[in-house]
Amino acid sequence: MGVSTDRRGARDAIEVASTDEIRALQLSRLKTTLAHVYANVPHYRQAFDAAGVHPDDLHTLSDLARFPLTAKGDLRANYPFGLFAVPREQVVRIHASSGTTGKPTVVGYTARDIDTWSELMARSIHAAGGRAGDIAHVAYGYGLFTGGLGAHYGAERLGCSVVPMSGGQTEKQIQLITDFKPDLILVTPSYMLTLIDALEAAGIDPRSTSLKLGIFGAEPWTEAMRAEMEARTGMDAVDIFGLSEVMGPGVACECVESKDGPVIWEDHFYPEIIHPETGEVLPDGELGELVITTLTKEALPVIRYRTRDLTRLLPPSARNMRRIGKITGRSDDMLIIRGVNVFPTQIEELVCAIEGLAPHYLIHVDKDGHLDSVRIEVELRDASAAPRREALAKELAHKAKGLIGISARIDVLDPASIERVSVGKARRVFDNRPKS
Ligand code: ADP
Repeated sequence: MGVSTDRRGARDAIEVASTDEIRALQLSRLKTTLAHVYANVPHYRQAFDAAGVHPDDLHTLSDLARFPLTAKGDLRANYPFGLFAVPREQVVRIHASSGTTGKPTVVGYTARDIDTWSELMARSIHAAGGRAGDIAHVAYGYGLFTGGLGAHYGAERLGCSVVPMSGGQTEKQIQLITDFKPDLILVTPSYMLTLIDALEAAGIDPRSTSLKLGIFGAEPWTEAMRAEMEARTGMDAVDIFGLSEVMGPGVACECVESKDGPVIWEDHFYPEIIHPETGEVLPDGELGELVITTLTKEALPVIRYRTRDLTRLLPPSARNMRRIGKITGRSDDMLIIRGVNVFPTQIEELVCAIEGLAPHYLIHVDKDGHLDSVRIEVELRDASAAPRREALAKELAHKAKGLIGISARIDVLDPASIERVSVGKARRVFDNRPKS
């Protein structure tokens, strides 16, 4: 691994290997992984026994569907180290999820796991267009969150000069971007927006910085947001996907030449899409919940891990591995408003499509008597749009009604009224309805 082949822009030869070769590698690695967890993790042994399956029952990749699914609750039930498949002394690193949806889940890595992760992040940054010798500004948070250190190790492995800035301290970020002249930035899309605004507020045209590439992930963002950020910065905006339970950032990454959804690094992960309610495996192309099995992890292999992310598997394009469609959201982000399913990303698309509005928004959902009500806060793009405030509100209300089916109250605020994200993931939804 790690040899620059330059075949179709790939860093590693396996990225463009034949489908037969990739499937054969997946099958042999999957067999090893199933045997490893069965021998070393009581949870998996019990779950396999209860489902009446044994690692020896796996003859083809599709046999994996007979094995039980794993959920976040299984990690919590085995908190903190119960799912480790190696003695704790062999674990050289521990991270924990940011706990967006509850108590943190703990993950561990052997030295070889850290090596694999670094390689896959290096491959991801390379696919995104980064190269050895580039200066890489890392503005993902460092610490228990996998974003900062994951990006850091990968960028170093690729041969970049890494600036470990972490999140927050927006003025300092701007200073370092101006002075160190990074070629690329790794950051959440919401914090990139904050940085773009801060550059403009400091009188710096975001198109004039040295940045040529932004590698954005850790939260959902839309094609409309990509267009917005590329237009305002002149950078290529590339999508990277990952989750701590599976590894961290770098499970999948878009290729800059196609920007058509993150490529899942199938030599290390086996993806499936299931029906979120029945658990049935769906054919490629159908929308459902992404389930991932790790193929090479030592400390915390996961078998059929339910990500809760809703997407579809797409055929290979720039590489010979499958892609995922841009993630609409997690099943737990989905709002059900008077019976209609709505994702915050769908509101984002509406807001970004209205020229006089800035791409910042908050969605408030309340109960008005028995009925759900929605209020959307947005901002004017700049003060000169102020005379159009009412017309802009009407335009968004009209579009939102088309989406949600009800009239939402729209508050068009002055520029910079909505609090900017500086650390962690954006929180855009406030669901104030009583929990039933
Ligand atoms: P937490 O579960 O506490 O949020 P993680 O940092 O492991 O902690 O978050 C992983 C999740 O972040 C993914 O399951 C997904 O929902 C979201 N995510 C990560 N990258 C992307 C991306 N590129 N697009 C959409 N969502 C993403």
